[in-house]
Amino acid sequence: KNGLSKTRNKIVQSISETLTGKAQIDDNTLDQIEEILITSDIGAETAEMIIDNLRKALKSEKDRSVENVLRLIKIELSKILIDSNNKSQSFIKPYIIVVVGVNGVGKTTSIGKLAYNYKNLGYKVIVGAADTFRAAANEQLEIWAKLAGVEIINSNKGADPSSVVFETIKRAVDENYDIVLIDTAGRLHNKTNLMNELSKIKKVIKKFSDSAPHETLLVVDGTTGQNALIQAIEFSKVIELTGLIITKLDGTAKGGMVFQISKKLKIPIKYIGVGEGIEDLQEFDKETFISALFE
Ligand code: GDP
Repeated sequence: KNGLSKTRNKIVQSISETLTGKAQIDDNTLDQIEEILITSDIGAETAEMIIDNLRKALKSEKDRSVENVLRLIKIELSKILIDSNNKSQSFIKPYIIVVVGVNGVGKTTSIGKLAYNYKNLGYKVIVGAADTFRAAANEQLEIWAKLAGVEIINSNKGADPSSVVFETIKRAVDENYDIVLIDTAGRLHNKTNLMNELSKIKKVIKKFSDSAPHETLLVVDGTTGQNALIQAIEFSKVIELTGLIITKLDGTAKGGMVFQISKKLKIPIKYIGVGEGIEDLQEFDKETFISALFE
């Protein structure tokens, strides 16, 4: 139901099966657990750290039951995740969110879902389609905006992205919108272009508010493991990211990458995508995520 069953089966169920019937939790068992963690894309380094800590914790534990060992693993996993601070505070209007990410990761879909979420919370939402390189993506975004029941400022292919941004925010200010979602092109293979374009967009946004963009979210595909991590590292060199959206976690047993990315980047995960539908974007909450895995 929560979209994380494949990862849960991979991590918690496999570990539980490994532990069942073992009188001793010896090095061999710990190696097996480490292997399970690694194959869930948690990363070798993170897996090793978890196992080291688990080994230490077990030294002072009399209770070696499966439940208790899982409880210790849960504690270790929980330590890795960063709190997302999603809980709504009062915010400046319009609240401007820039969304970045390479093609195919689920950026368009995630913006549609975000628009829908904010709309449902009672906010007046407008989307700026500033990924002007992909006509098809803009059509797709328009469909999502319609579905979410929010306004969208679109443009023709090849239009200047920053003029789309300008038009969107101007409209938001004039017509008292609460939330502005800006889609951007993510051509990571051409870093100079990307950097120039994003800094142009930022300049336009700053004309309206010095504190904006209030959020810059990077979308990565949760099924792509190491690639997602590399993209996050590369984007954070070009632009200051305030959070991550990790998509497609419903389709993968490799949701361990959430831990890896959290540990390596120290950027909070703000949302996770757990399906193709408009309701399938969840606010990321550390405790909820861990509980879903261990339920
Ligand atoms: P973009 O190129 O980054 O804008 O990617 P799209 O938003 O067009 O998404 C690419 C594909 O991924 C589409 O088929 C989406 O339905 C799918 N997708 C996006 N997010 C999710 C998700 O959370 N779960 C699943 N299963 N599919 C997703």
